[in-house]
Amino acid sequence: MNWKRAIGLDNLSEEYAFARSESTGYTSAQKIPDHWVPTTCGYCSVGCGIEIGVKEGRAIASRPFAMHPVNRGKLCPKGLSEHYTIDTENRAKYPLLRKAGKLVRVSWDEALDVMVERFRATQAKYGPESLGVLSTGQLVTEEFYTLGKLVQLGFGTNNYDGNTTLCMASAVSGYKISFGSDGPPGAYEDMQSADVVLLIGANLADNHPILCQYLEANRNKTLIVADPRVSKTAMMADIHLPLKPRSDLALLNGIAHILIRYNLIDRDYIDKHTAGFAELERFLDSYTPEYVAEITGLSQEIIFKTALLYGRAKAGFIGWTMGVNHSTLGTATVNAICNLALLTGHIGRAGASPFSITGQCNAMGTREAGFTSSLPGYRKFDKGKDRAELAAIWGVDESRLPAKRGLAYPDIVEAAVAKKIHALWIIATNPLVSYPNQDVLRHGLSNLDFLVVQDGYHPTPTTELADLVLPAAIWGEKEGTYTNSERRVSKVNKAVEPVGEARSDFNIFLEIAEKLGCRNELYPGWTTVEDAFNEWRRVSQGRLCDYSGISYGLLAEHGAVQWPFSEGADPKCTSRLYSDGEFQTSDGRAKLVCTDWVPFPEQPNSSYPFVLNTGRTVEHWHTRTKTKEVPILERLSPRAWLEMNPRDAKRLGMRSHDSVDVVSRRGSVRGVELRLTEITAPGQVFMPFHFAETNVNEVTQDAFDPISREPNYKQCAVRVERSGANA
Ligand code: SF4
Repeated sequence: MNWKRAIGLDNLSEEYAFARSESTGYTSAQKIPDHWVPTTCGYCSVGCGIEIGVKEGRAIASRPFAMHPVNRGKLCPKGLSEHYTIDTENRAKYPLLRKAGKLVRVSWDEALDVMVERFRATQAKYGPESLGVLSTGQLVTEEFYTLGKLVQLGFGTNNYDGNTTLCMASAVSGYKISFGSDGPPGAYEDMQSADVVLLIGANLADNHPILCQYLEANRNKTLIVADPRVSKTAMMADIHLPLKPRSDLALLNGIAHILIRYNLIDRDYIDKHTAGFAELERFLDSYTPEYVAEITGLSQEIIFKTALLYGRAKAGFIGWTMGVNHSTLGTATVNAICNLALLTGHIGRAGASPFSITGQCNAMGTREAGFTSSLPGYRKFDKGKDRAELAAIWGVDESRLPAKRGLAYPDIVEAAVAKKIHALWIIATNPLVSYPNQDVLRHGLSNLDFLVVQDGYHPTPTTELADLVLPAAIWGEKEGTYTNSERRVSKVNKAVEPVGEARSDFNIFLEIAEKLGCRNELYPGWTTVEDAFNEWRRVSQGRLCDYSGISYGLLAEHGAVQWPFSEGADPKCTSRLYSDGEFQTSDGRAKLVCTDWVPFPEQPNSSYPFVLNTGRTVEHWHTRTKTKEVPILERLSPRAWLEMNPRDAKRLGMRSHDSVDVVSRRGSVRGVELRLTEITAPGQVFMPFHFAETNVNEVTQDAFDPISREPNYKQCAVRVERSGANA
């Protein structure tokens, strides 16, 4: 005890002292930092500029980075409280190795020796492909680039994927099929300059809140929101289309049918820049308003109105997120969205874009620089020229680059179940909350000989199962870059030292390479992340995602710039892809794709009468590992809930706040609080997916898009019982 306190003097005056902050006014003196460090938000892909307030080496405040072009001086509740995520009880501080069944603290040297030895032994016994790697959208781009080389050229496996397959893989696959390459064509500014904005399965108000200011600033738009729920974003709309679950593909085909039938298409654009119009016209013949109304549950009038508004718009914007992607029809639906943009020429101009709004802060970075669904720089696995070019830049034999992608995320899990993957390295993701049908995942993980989990947090449901836990530095503790949904590259800066013995993922990768004996070959002379960035600039040069003109100095000066950005480009310029009508396909033409609607895989029946929809809430981030440690966010939303329409509840004799169980063919979630609301239509229920304690993924389905391999999280058949009814 302090001596002043021991003799009864007031020693808390410092704690209670107030002072004046330039950003918030009169406040606690303890909230006044010594200095502010500019960086980029580490949660979602909006990519807001943020400043971390540092006092005596600790992060104590967050505020908007006023000069950043994305957020224009605003942050959402997660961004405003982000500094709380750094110094939390559940941070992973030391390497932990399982010995005699228990995770015990070991040195970094021992941890990495064991990891490399076990991975090598596994690969020697079962072949190189018996090692799988599951990464994330949370690292900086430089780390993705470094990791991709390490996995492919160091460990020699291409069974490498990221949790981005759980969120944006269908957007990637759809863009590749329609335009020949990944890469969202538009910019946020387009939401401000479009005269018609159509959002499909995109609840921006909860999931990308800062984007709403672009919509609010556009007074002349018509906002159309297609969503089975009356989400917060649907409440902002001029027209809400409460379509039946997973009928969006039929709606889009129906709109295309009307556009063609009433000549609301841009013939000139179609003739010059697309392929496949005649087939598409024939294919769409059956998608009459009558047929589409039947599938979607919407009136023919509202389908017509939507088509006419979009077709007659000077600049039409279509935005989408997980409502489209989380489906066995995700890729097909993305192609149908791209069809609408191509038929009308609503692409490559101000206000005109088919625009996927991504999930994680740097999902885009892994798509650009990673080794998962493409080779770095959006190069194609199956294109010899791309492989040869990359091998030449790296000075390695071309045969070391795979000619096809390895297993995607769900296929790695399936391979673990089938005992084909024997060792797994999971980086900055928590599948024991986020993966659908948890039972299958648990089975796969229990089959492994060795599981390494590298994460900033421990314990999590996933680290608790690990044989080895590697503690990683997180946002605020390391440097690099993120790319946001509009291809804008922002600097990420270190504000404080990593907790305990945690190390940046970049340093961990270099040290593993050292142990493997490939550091000098793969990373010659590298000591900092800027070394990785500079090599990445060369690798991306001349590609669609060209970073060659970007430097750390330029980012410090301008806050953030959009790629493609070659030497001498204007940092203030808004860039759009395909403005010249030249696409990344072999003939330069975009493809019009025929994509047929089919019902979602698990239809409700008398035993499982509800369609369960899952999603997010503004207060939490993905598996809640971080946000449950942020007092204000956790108090606002401390537990999961199940939304049900009051008419269904009346029929079942249930009331608001009842404790209920949600049961599917795969499992159940017990003790969920019931919320009765007209937000959710009769026959449907909704539950957020953030909560490990009541994990909705105990009941979701392991059905996947056949092309992107993204899970069908959004619809499965469940019944709802009062808790304890069958006890
Ligand atoms: S909108 Fe996204 S990027 Fe912006 S502050 Fe919120 S979580 Fe961070």
